Amino acid sequence: MLNIVLFGPPGSGKGTQAAKLVEKYGLVHLSTGDIFRANIKNETELGKLAKSYIDKGLLVPDEVTIHILQSEADKYTGVNGFIFDGFPRTIQQAEALDAYLAARNTSVTMMLSLEVDEEELKRRLLLRGKESGRADDQNPAIIEQRIAVYHRDTAPAKEYYTRQGKYRAVNGVGAIDHIFALLCAEIDTASAK
Ligand code: ADP
Repeated sequence: MLNIVLFGPPGSGKGTQAAKLVEKYGLVHLSTGDIFRANIKNETELGKLAKSYIDKGLLVPDEVTIHILQSEADKYTGVNGFIFDGFPRTIQQAEALDAYLAARNTSVTMMLSLEVDEEELKRRLLLRGKESGRADDQNPAIIEQRIAVYHRDTAPAKEYYTRQGKYRAVNGVGAIDHIFALLCAEIDTASAK
């Protein structure tokens, strides 16, 4: 299986690139942010819980996030692989993902990280807030908070995959198709090994 972890700060373009990668490589797209937003829309218990964290720019607790990701992934068997988008976001989530995939006799192929500078991130998130109506993208203080959480809790996951020799970074600023080509080149190099 080809199992890609797509990584990067809020607004780095993970969702956009994931959609293109899914199409090209025939993968299943698992986005914890999308799962939470669907639950918020349907006003489920999980949605109410997730919303209380998301609205503050905080991470949803690991136990909840890990459980929901695993039960979503369990729905798919006999697939080419997964793209994990927005997960793992903590070391604990990364460890849980390794254990989950090991139980399925597979593993993370690589972490692909989209590198985008902070000014550009803030610009993109505020624009997305205007266009999509996503509440967490409309408030500059919440955006700052999410970027701070990213640096504090999420960036260490990079080291986790670096230690395993699985971390690859690409420049996430530029034309969408150009960034996509950079990602594909990394995947094709890794799969040729
Ligand atoms: P972005 O990458 O733009 O922040 P996402 O759609 O990935 O957007 O996530 C939206 C929000 O959902 C996050 O700010 C966070 O509160 C919550 N969330 C998403 N994925 C996770 C995760 N793996 N662990 C904890 N919280 C998460």
